[in-house]
Amino acid sequence: MPGGLDFEDAAKRASELRREIARHDELYYVLDSPEIEDSEYDALLRELAGIEAAHPGLLTPDSPNMRVRGAPRGEFRKVVHGTPMQSLDNALDRGELSAFFDRARRALGGEEDEPWVCEPKIDGLAVSLIYEGGVLENASTRGDGQVGEDVTQNVRTIRTLPLRLKRHQSGRVEVRGEVCMAREDFAELNRRREDEGAPLFANPRNAAAGSLRQLDPSVTASRRLKIFLYHVNDALSLGIETQHGILSWLEGEGLPTQGRSRLCAAPEEVYAYLDEWGSARFSEPVNTDGVVVKLNRLELRERLGSTSHAPRWAIAFKYPPEEKRSKVLDIEISVGRTGALTPTARLEPVRLSGTTVQRASLHNQDEIDRKDIRIGDTVWVRKAGEIIPEILRVDIDARTGGETPFRIPEICPACGAVAARIASEAAVRCPNRSCPAQLQEAVLHFVSRDCMDINGMGERLARRLTEGGFVKSVADIYDLTPETLAGVERMAEKSAQNLAEAIEASKGRPFYAVLNALGIRNVGKKTARDIARRFRSIDALMEADESELSGVDGIGPVVAASIRAYLADGHNLSVIARLAESGVSMRSDGEEGAAGADVKIFAGKKFVFTGELSSMTRSEAERAAESLGAGISASVSKKTDVVVAGANPGSKHDRAVSLGVEIWGEDEFIDKIKGIWEV
Ligand code: NAD
Repeated sequence: MPGGLDFEDAAKRASELRREIARHDELYYVLDSPEIEDSEYDALLRELAGIEAAHPGLLTPDSPNMRVRGAPRGEFRKVVHGTPMQSLDNALDRGELSAFFDRARRALGGEEDEPWVCEPKIDGLAVSLIYEGGVLENASTRGDGQVGEDVTQNVRTIRTLPLRLKRHQSGRVEVRGEVCMAREDFAELNRRREDEGAPLFANPRNAAAGSLRQLDPSVTASRRLKIFLYHVNDALSLGIETQHGILSWLEGEGLPTQGRSRLCAAPEEVYAYLDEWGSARFSEPVNTDGVVVKLNRLELRERLGSTSHAPRWAIAFKYPPEEKRSKVLDIEISVGRTGALTPTARLEPVRLSGTTVQRASLHNQDEIDRKDIRIGDTVWVRKAGEIIPEILRVDIDARTGGETPFRIPEICPACGAVAARIASEAAVRCPNRSCPAQLQEAVLHFVSRDCMDINGMGERLARRLTEGGFVKSVADIYDLTPETLAGVERMAEKSAQNLAEAIEASKGRPFYAVLNALGIRNVGKKTARDIARRFRSIDALMEADESELSGVDGIGPVVAASIRAYLADGHNLSVIARLAESGVSMRSDGEEGAAGADVKIFAGKKFVFTGELSSMTRSEAERAAESLGAGISASVSKKTDVVVAGANPGSKHDRAVSLGVEIWGEDEFIDKIKGIWEV
C-alpha cells in the first residue's frame, strides 16, 4: 500500500513516479506514441495521488495530479483559452461514482436527486472552436488547459464540421468537443503506414492527435478525422439552461454530436446506462473509453465550481480494459507477400471488446521469446486500442509442464525453401520468389481495389491459379483466358467472361495504381502516387538514382533503397516488361493529379466561385474547397489562384481571363475534389 510507506520511501517513490509520468506524458502528448496503455498510465497517476494523500507534504504544485496534462508542442501559434479547458476526474467503479453523487448532493444541500446527463466519453483530443458571427473563426487544442495550439486550418479540413452555424449568426460562441478517428480509418491508416515503412500509431486517439497536429493541413485533410461537440461555453447567456439543452442547441446548429447521450433522473438510471453502454460502445465506429456524467442544470454547476484541474459537476467513468484468459491452441505460420514468416497464435475463442477473438499475431520470434509464449499456455488476451488482439502475458502459474516452446521454422512451410533471418530485421523470410504462398499474396495485392482493381479474383481462385501453376508471376494474369478461368474455378461462363473483362479493363488503370500493384517493399498507395507524379513513367523511374528518389517529397532513404533494389532485380524487370507488353499502362497521363491525392491543389489557395453549379450548390462547393484548406474570396484579383466557373459565369470569369488566373469548369472541380476524397 503506497499510503503505508514511511515518509522517506514515499518521497522516493513519488519522485520516481513523477519522472515516469513526465516521460509518458511526453511520449503521449508531444510525440503521439505512448508506450503503455492508458489504464496503466492512470494507475501510475493514482498511485502518486495515493501517496500524496497520505503525505500531504509531498503534494507539490508541479504534481501531475495538480494540472491538466498535454503541453503544447511549440510549432503552432499559441492560443490562450478564455476559459481554461479542464480535464475530468475519473471514477473506476460504481463505488467511486456513488461517492461522487454523494458529494454533489451534499454540496448542493438538497435531499432530492438532480438529473444527470450521460455522454459517451469519446477517446480523442479536446478542441475549442470559436464561431464569430456564425462563422468558424478559430480552432485550438486543449494543450495544458490554459494555452493550446492554433489548429484552425487543420480543423477546417474535417468534412463533417460546418464552417458556418445554421441559426446563430451573431456574436462570439465557443463550443468544445473531441476530434477522433474511427477504428476502421485508424486500421487503414496504419496499414498504409506499414506499407510505407512509416511508424505506426498506437491507437486511434494518438492517430487523431498526430493527424490534427500537422503543420501541413493537406496531411490532415487526407486523414479521415471526425469531430463531436459536447459543450457550449457560457451557455446560460444564450438562454440554454441544461446540458441536455446544450446538446440540442449544438444539433440545431448543425454541429455533430455523438448522439448517444441520455438524460437520467437519478443515479440508478446512470448505472443502468453504464451497464448498457459497457457493451453497446463496441458497435460504435469510434472508440469510447467511458461515460462522462454531467450535472444537467447549468446554474447548479456554478455552485459546485471546479478544482484546479477538473469541474466538480462532472466525472468520467472509465471502463476497465477488457483482458481475458484464453489458451494457445497452436501457433501457425503464414507467409506474406514479401516472404515474411509471421507466427499467429490460434486461441480458444474468447469474447473481447464486442467480437470473438480466435487469433492473435505474435509478430516475430523476438516477441515470442520476450513473452515466453508456448503452445498450450494459458494467456491473458486483450485488444490493443480496442482493435488488434494481442497476447499480454502468459499465466505462468497455470503451466502444467506439457506446454511446447515454439521456434519459427527455418524452412518455409509453403514451399520448403530455406528461410533466413536478415540481420537488420526481426522477420524471418522465405527467399523463394515462386513460393506459392508469396505468389498468392502478391496476386491478391495486385488485383486489390487500390491496385489493378480486378473484381472477381478472390482468395480461392488466386490459390488455385498459383498452386495449379497457371500464374507464376502477376504478369501471367494477363494471359488468362475465360476458358482457363472457367476450368480452374468451375466458374459459370458468364462470371469467367466478366472476370476476363475486368482483367482487360485493368490495363487502363493509372500508372500510380500499377506502381502500387507491383508490391515494391515500403511503397504503398501514397508513395506510389508521389513517385508517379514525380517520374511519370517507368523508364524515368528506372533511370532515377537513390539520391534523386529520396529527393521526392515523402520518400526517405529506406524507401528509395527498396525501390532501387526492386528495379535492379532481373525477375522484377521481366515482370514489368511483360506487363507493359500486355498493355498495362507504364506511364502517367496526369491522372494521379486529376484522380486526386493532391490536396495541395486546395490547401492555402485562394478560390473564387462564379456561375451556377448543377451538381451542388455554390455554398456546398465552397465548403468542400474550404474543408481541404482553401480560402474563398468573393472577387477575383491577382492573388486568386483558381476560379471555378459554373454555367453563365459573369464578370468574375472575364476578369480571371484577363488576369490569367487558372479557371476550372464544374466537372474539373468535382473530379479534383472526388479524387481527394477517394484517397
Ligand atoms: P481524460 O481522458 O481522462 O478525460 C477528460 C477528457 O475527456 C476531456 O478533456 C475531453 O477531451 C474528453 N471527453 C470525451 N468525451 C467527452 C464528453 N462527452 N464530455 C466532456 N469531455 C469529454 O483526461 P485527459 O486529461 O483528457 O487525458 C488524459 C488521458 O490521457 C487519460 O486517459 C490518460 O490515460 C491518457 N494518457 C495516457 C498516457 C500513456 O502513456 N498511455 C500518457 C498520458 C496520458
